[in-house]
Amino acid sequence: MSHDASEYDKNDFKSNTGKRYNMDEKREECGVVGIYSKLGQSVTPLLHRALYALQHRGQDAAGFAIYSDKRIIERKGIGLVESIFKKEDLELEGSIGVGHTRYPTIGGCAEGDVQPTVYDGIAVAHNGHIANYPDLKKELEGDGYKFHSTVDSEPMAYYLHRDKEDLKGAIEKIMKNFEGSFSDVAIYHGKLLCYRDQRELRPLVWGENKDFIMVASETVALDVNGIEYKGDIRGGSYFTVEEGNLNKVQIVERLPHHCMFEYVYFSRPDSVINGRSVRLVRSLLGEQLAKESPVKADVVVPVPDTSRTAAMAFAKESSIEYEEGLIKNRYIGRTFIMPTQEKRRNAVKLKLNPVKDIVVDKSVVLIDDSIVRGTTMKEIVQLIRDAGAKEVHVRITSPPIKAPCFYGVDIPTFKELIANNKSIEQIKEFIGADSLAYLSLDGLKTAIGIPICDACLTGNYHTEYVKKLAEAVK
Ligand code: SF4
Repeated sequence: MSHDASEYDKNDFKSNTGKRYNMDEKREECGVVGIYSKLGQSVTPLLHRALYALQHRGQDAAGFAIYSDKRIIERKGIGLVESIFKKEDLELEGSIGVGHTRYPTIGGCAEGDVQPTVYDGIAVAHNGHIANYPDLKKELEGDGYKFHSTVDSEPMAYYLHRDKEDLKGAIEKIMKNFEGSFSDVAIYHGKLLCYRDQRELRPLVWGENKDFIMVASETVALDVNGIEYKGDIRGGSYFTVEEGNLNKVQIVERLPHHCMFEYVYFSRPDSVINGRSVRLVRSLLGEQLAKESPVKADVVVPVPDTSRTAAMAFAKESSIEYEEGLIKNRYIGRTFIMPTQEKRRNAVKLKLNPVKDIVVDKSVVLIDDSIVRGTTMKEIVQLIRDAGAKEVHVRITSPPIKAPCFYGVDIPTFKELIANNKSIEQIKEFIGADSLAYLSLDGLKTAIGIPICDACLTGNYHTEYVKKLAEAVK
């Protein structure tokens, strides 16, 4: 995640290109991967495949760094993985590597903000958000470090560097001083290193085969490389691989608060994170929602793509037909906030098209994972009505979002969140649905089945610094 001077003001979600992103499309900050070859083989092709697999976690920039002949070589660029790297980049040879796919949030995406951040024998790829970045920056500048970017991986690299080669000491200070979430991988003086904050907010899995050890945001990065998932990096610990030996060190107590949105929305359904299958959780979300808020209807339609698994389970539990009644144009990337309703409608129409014969004269249950501002859902409901639906019942597979996130997910300010300002009945009126229901918090917790962070649903932030930040922006 990146920062600028106007941290947490009302323009938080404005990029440095001046565009405002459509936060009804929540965005995740980054995918990371680290890999070590036990047999001294080149890791570059595997890194490249892993970055492709993690593209959904960040589509604005990508990069990798490899360790070769006692030096670090980096390759990075703005855009999609397929467009950034040249053939000769992929022929670079090195037996340790880290990679990153990125979404910019605060501050946008300048060339200098593309990760990994490389500094004097260290290369860091970071996933998460450091809430007290300005304080850390000031401290490190006082120690003589010069900042060249606005990304969290830069203070991380300097913290790792400042303690010379006392890795345990450096990680202890990171765990103590960095407020927020971090699931990071690094090349550290010829070792592969990874570490995770004690709350385990962002996922970080690892796996191994006879040739390679890999750490990544999601198991899909392991799968595409034929590497077996072995488990998750424990919160509050770090893990190094050097000369083929794996060394795990617990630094502080593990206090898991897994981001519930990783299951509801972000991670790929074919991933396993924190030991839980994302597909299975989404299925349970849909099933539970059908039990809590049943509806008499003719057809269940998902808002593609992330709601599909839950919608199928909702349909099965309700004994209602499931149909792909909305088709997504896959060639349209991110959309930006449109100033007028007409422009918003046109943007949604370009992205989603209803299948008329599926919805015409039908009572439709529309399933989505969340409602942020409500403006996109309003347009989708209208699209389905315009296509001839008799009724549109909206069911949401998570509880209402009432508070912003300071732990690494772009959720807008209190003011912009529709559920912070309106009752469920008022939201139903605003989006123009015949009925609206959200999954309960208990239902969400039961489906995910492991301890979660629910701060954006309840406003109960679980770290002191963020509690103060939230008060300040209210
Ligand atoms: Fe995830 Fe919400 Fe917690 Fe942010 S506040 S980490 S979006 S659950």
